[in-house]
Amino acid sequence: MIISRLAALAAGVAAALAPIAAEAQTQAQPGEAAFRAMFKEMIETDTSAASGDCTVLANKIAARMQAAGFPAKNLKVMVPDGAPKAGNLVAWLPGKDPKAKAVLMLGHIDVVNAFRADWTRDPFALVEENGQFYGRGVSDMKSQDAIWADNMVRYNAEGYHPRRTIRMALTCGEEGGGFVNGADWLAQNHRELVDAGIGLTEGGGGDLDAEGKRLAVTVMAAEKVFSVFTLEITGPGGHSSKPRNDNIIEALGQALANLKTLSFPTQLNENSRLYFETLATRADPETAAAIRKVLADPADPAANAVLDRSVSYHAMLRTTCIPTLVEGGHATNAQPQRAKATINCRTLPGASVDEAEAAIVKAVHNPLMKVTRGLVGAARAPSPPITPELVAPIRKVAATIFPGVPVTPMQETFGTDAGRLVAVGIPVYGFSALFRGDDAGNIHGLNEHISVQSVMDARSFMYRLIKDYADAK
Ligand SMILES: [Zn+2]
Repeated sequence: MIISRLAALAAGVAAALAPIAAEAQTQAQPGEAAFRAMFKEMIETDTSAASGDCTVLANKIAARMQAAGFPAKNLKVMVPDGAPKAGNLVAWLPGKDPKAKAVLMLGHIDVVNAFRADWTRDPFALVEENGQFYGRGVSDMKSQDAIWADNMVRYNAEGYHPRRTIRMALTCGEEGGGFVNGADWLAQNHRELVDAGIGLTEGGGGDLDAEGKRLAVTVMAAEKVFSVFTLEITGPGGHSSKPRNDNIIEALGQALANLKTLSFPTQLNENSRLYFETLATRADPETAAAIRKVLADPADPAANAVLDRSVSYHAMLRTTCIPTLVEGGHATNAQPQRAKATINCRTLPGASVDEAEAAIVKAVHNPLMKVTRGLVGAARAPSPPITPELVAPIRKVAATIFPGVPVTPMQETFGTDAGRLVAVGIPVYGFSALFRGDDAGNIHGLNEHISVQSVMDARSFMYRLIKDYADAK
C-alpha cells in the first residue's frame, strides 16, 4: 500500500513537471513491443491483389496470437473454396452470458496494390520516420487490424472474462481486385462466426487540422456509394505516318478535359450538417466562417471555394466523379483503334446513379463516345442508425483520451465492409479512433502514412472501448 502511494506520489510529481504538450499524450500501454511486432508483420506481408496473399497473413497472425497464449480452439483461418489466397482469420473470446449478443471487431487485411518503383520507401516495409509510420496499409487499415488482434491477445492474457462474446474477423477482399470479399462470404456462409449485436470496422476516427490539432472524433453514420463508368471510343486506325484528323486518343483526351468541368452541387443531409456544425466550433476562423455560410446557403460560391481546398470537405459535400484508369492504342507506329477510360463516381447516400451517368454523358459531349455503366455499389445496405449504446461509450473513452474534443457523426467519403454485414442484419459501424489529416494519410496512394501517436492513442482507446461494449448490459 505504502509503495503504491509512493508510486502515485512520484507519478504526480512527474506529471506536474512534464511539459504541457505531453498532457494529451497517452501513457505507453503494456505490450507495446508485441503490438509493434504484430503491426510490422502485417505491413511486411504483401496482401495486395496484384502480388499478395491474405491466407499467408491470416496464418501468421493466428500463429502470433497462439504464441502469445491465445487458445488455438478459439481461432480459425477460413479460406473460401477456389480462392486459396483469400483467407480470413476469425477468433473469439467467449462471454459469460450466452444469451447476450456479441461484439465484433471487423477489419480487412488486404491492401490496394503498391508498386515499389513509384514509392519513396519500400511499401512492404514498416518505416518509422519523424513520428510517422509509412507503408502500404498503415492507415488503411492494418493499424486497426493490429489493434483488434492485440486486444484479443491482451484480454486473453489478463484473464478478462467479458459479459458478451468478443469476436474478431480479419478478412480479405475489401479492396476488390480479384479476391473474394471475406466479410460478405462469412456473413453469407458462416454467420455464427461474425454474428453480433454491435460491430466496428474502418471509417470515422478523428480529424486533424493542418497543424495537427484534433478537431473532432468522428463516427461514420453514412457512406457514399461507389460506381464505375467506362468511356470508350473506337476508330479505323491506320499507319501513323498518314494521320487522320479524327484521332481517337485525342477525342478521349478532350472528353476527359470536358469532364474536368463537371461539378455536382453541394448537398447537405442530417449527418453532414451535424458534422460541419461541430467542425465550425473548432476550425480556423476562415474555415469556420465558410462552413457557417455553406450551412445557411449550400450554393454560396465563395464559401464553397474555401471548403474545396480540403479534399475531404469537398468530397463530403457532393457527388464526385473522376477518371482513374486510361488505356488506348496498340502500337507506336499506328493510329489508335480503341481508347478507353474508367470513371469512378462516389455518389452521396440516396443520390441517383442515373443522374451521375446523365451528367457524365452531357459533360463528355461526344456522341461517338460510348458511356457504359459498370460496377455499382448501390446494393449496399444503408448504415444503421447511430444509437446511444454505440456513442455513449465512445464519448466516455474520448473524454479521457482526447479531453475537450467533440464527438460527432460523419458521412464517410468512401465505402467499407460494414454494409456487407448490415445487409444480413448485423449492425456494423465505422469507427477507428485513428486521427488523420485531410488526405487520411494518402490511403490507396503513394507513401501511405499515419502518425505513431495516432496509432498508439487508438490502441489505448479501443482496448477500453471494446471492453465497455462487451460488459454493457
Ligand atoms: Zn480500407
